[in-house]
Amino acid sequence: MSTIHHTKALVVGSGPAGCTAAIYAARANLKPIMVRGLQPGGQLTITTDVENYPGFAETIQGPWLMEQMEGQAKNVGTVIIEDTITDADLSVRPFRLTGDSGDIYTCDALIISTGASARWLGLASEEAFMGMGVSACATCDGFFYRGKEVAVIGGGNTAVEEALYLTNHATKVTLIHRRGELRSEKILQTRLFNNDKIEVLWDTVLEEVLGNQAGGAALPLGGNLTPPGVTGLRLKNVKTNKESTINVDGVFIAIGHSPNTDIFKGQLDMDTGGYIITKPGTPLTSIPGVFASGDVQDHTYQQAVTAAGTGCMAAFDAERFIAELESKADAAE
Ligand code: FAD
Ligand code: NAP
Repeated sequence: MSTIHHTKALVVGSGPAGCTAAIYAARANLKPIMVRGLQPGGQLTITTDVENYPGFAETIQGPWLMEQMEGQAKNVGTVIIEDTITDADLSVRPFRLTGDSGDIYTCDALIISTGASARWLGLASEEAFMGMGVSACATCDGFFYRGKEVAVIGGGNTAVEEALYLTNHATKVTLIHRRGELRSEKILQTRLFNNDKIEVLWDTVLEEVLGNQAGGAALPLGGNLTPPGVTGLRLKNVKTNKESTINVDGVFIAIGHSPNTDIFKGQLDMDTGGYIITKPGTPLTSIPGVFASGDVQDHTYQQAVTAAGTGCMAAFDAERFIAELESKADAAE
């Protein structure tokens, strides 16, 4: 039996934006519901060291920070629900959303904080070896590469952090970047270049992931099946067009993120990248009463602190919106 949950303010997503929106909405007595989604705590739960979230003199851990944020949201009165929104109807009032559980969520104000998910290159071989040597999360899968060689694709903060993290496990890490310079922060670049276990291949793209397919060729008589998994990469230098192969046991794709906005497509204004368009300097979307905060509406800064900041703004505007609704309803009585 599906349950109908009604709340003045529904927060979709439990990353820094969602948790902050929930904290402020709860303290404004809106009795918010926060739906956690498939990645409770959001992107920071797949990283380790966080050194730039203000308030902590020492390095903290991403999963710990998110545990604290969610605990804070809960302690001030947020109802936290384990579900993922699969459908949204923003043409009705109250807004009506459906969860993967079958439950229905109705709300007067909606705060979308669904963040972003890792992007993939789109190669057939990348898909074929997904989970068998191809990954987008070094902190989740790095352990499997103890004593092995791996590669990381990308040149942003994520790629550099993944490469550095992987040196804790792997004997060698090759960072493969399509240009001749990294876009990551200088402090991370310095750590990267000073790490003897890391080699950088510049102006290079991944053409194909090489390896043994699941249920691959049997070895000669009596031998075991070749274990499925990645054995190497076919690469191309984009300046010389020269192809090469390298031997690796795993490859981590770290080429950025795409916003999680599919369920709102066709209902809210979005840019060509699928990011929700908000009125500059505000969390206001193209539908009154629907607010967006965090990475889902920000392709520029994408930091935990900016996500948290816009979560706070979304809750303030939701509170104002609900107060106006209520005063109109009172006047009509
Ligand atoms: P997210 O953290 O992406 O959270 C999105 C939430 O929405 C998740 O809880 C998810 O479950 C939920 N969700 C999605 N779809 C649905 C749905 N349909 N229904 C319900 N819920 C849904 N930033 C820093 O400031 N410092 C760092 O050191 C740092 N390190 C990083 C390391 C890595 C590896 C990565 C990937 C990012 C890092 N960032 C860092 C960036 C930072 O994590 C993001 O900017 C921030 O998490 C964005 O917060 P958010 O709340 O907008 O979204
Ligand atoms: P990003 O900054 O967008 O970087 C993506 C990288 O992947 C870029 O170097 C890009 O190359 C490359 N790339 C993109 N598409 C590619 C393709 N098809 N083939 C090959 N390479 C491709 O993404 P991110 O590193 O995931 O970071 C996302 C956000 O999170 C950023 O705002 C970042 O600052 C933040 N973040 C912060 C921290 C931190 O503060 N410590 C850590 C991680 C992430 P080009 O450079 O050529 O465009």
